[in-house]
Amino acid sequence: QVGYVAEVIRKETVRSYLQPREANTHKHAAGNVLVIAGSSGKLGAALLTARSALRSGAGLVTIGTWPDAALALQSRVVEIMTTSIEPEQLEASLEAALASRHAVAIGPGLGLDDRARAVVDHVVLRWDGLKVVDADALTLFAGRAEVLATAKGSLVLTPHPGELGRLLGRSARAIEEDRFGAIREAVRITQAIVVLKGARTIIATPDGRMFICMAGNPALATAGSGDVLTGIIAAFACSMAAECAAIAGVLIHALAADAWSLATGADRGLQASEIAEKFPGLIAAL
Ligand code: AMP
Ligand code: MG
Repeated sequence: QVGYVAEVIRKETVRSYLQPREANTHKHAAGNVLVIAGSSGKLGAALLTARSALRSGAGLVTIGTWPDAALALQSRVVEIMTTSIEPEQLEASLEAALASRHAVAIGPGLGLDDRARAVVDHVVLRWDGLKVVDADALTLFAGRAEVLATAKGSLVLTPHPGELGRLLGRSARAIEEDRFGAIREAVRITQAIVVLKGARTIIATPDGRMFICMAGNPALATAGSGDVLTGIIAAFACSMAAECAAIAGVLIHALAADAWSLATGADRGLQASEIAEKFPGLIAAL
């Protein structure tokens, strides 16, 4: 039997990561996030991630998605910008979309087809910045997780047990039976910061440290709640180290669900979009 040591994520720790805003800050300084997400029938995933980044304090948030999805989104967004990723001119449209971003969130609802694979390979492996890799973007590395260790820039991977299982070639059940062993193996193979979601989310870093979140509740087991986590981590990564962004994002996301459950008395019925609405108040209260 192997013993593992994980540090419990504390509010005081997260408070120390969050600096008060400078009085003269401007939107570019507050964080410029690109969300590469969404496809026909899954536009909500892109919206949830992008709105979460805004609620987390990012100054500029843009959704980069397929031409038809970008067109459909345009009529539904106000504060969020959209940009088209053209499968025919992939590299050019991606380079334009990526210019001057502080962080990228990639994967929610993006799809698993060849064009998605090409986008994910370009951004995750070749763009030299901080990327939060989630959902379909993770699944597109199933069977070849080791290439993630060759990625430029830095990576935060946010798998649920099913996604981590696909990355490591195991079942979700096998991951759940040995969450600490699985996350350690994932970090060893990918050399990324890994966030293994679920009740008691754990975070592991390439230098061997592990953190565990004791907040959160089963109300979070709802469609889109992971997309909201991706957005907060990407926004925080604009102004803090990747590892701190993962730790802070996981805690505040969990506290939002706890605040909702306390206010409603409910352990179900939370809608993912309601999680991010609690972020500004929670960040202020920390
Ligand atoms: P996803 O599966 O990608 O939508 O992510 C689900 C999110 O909800 C993650 O942040 C999980 O940690 C969280 N979550 C799911 N189920 C639970 C649970 N039973 N207790 C606490 N958090 C949960
Ligand atoms: Mg998810």
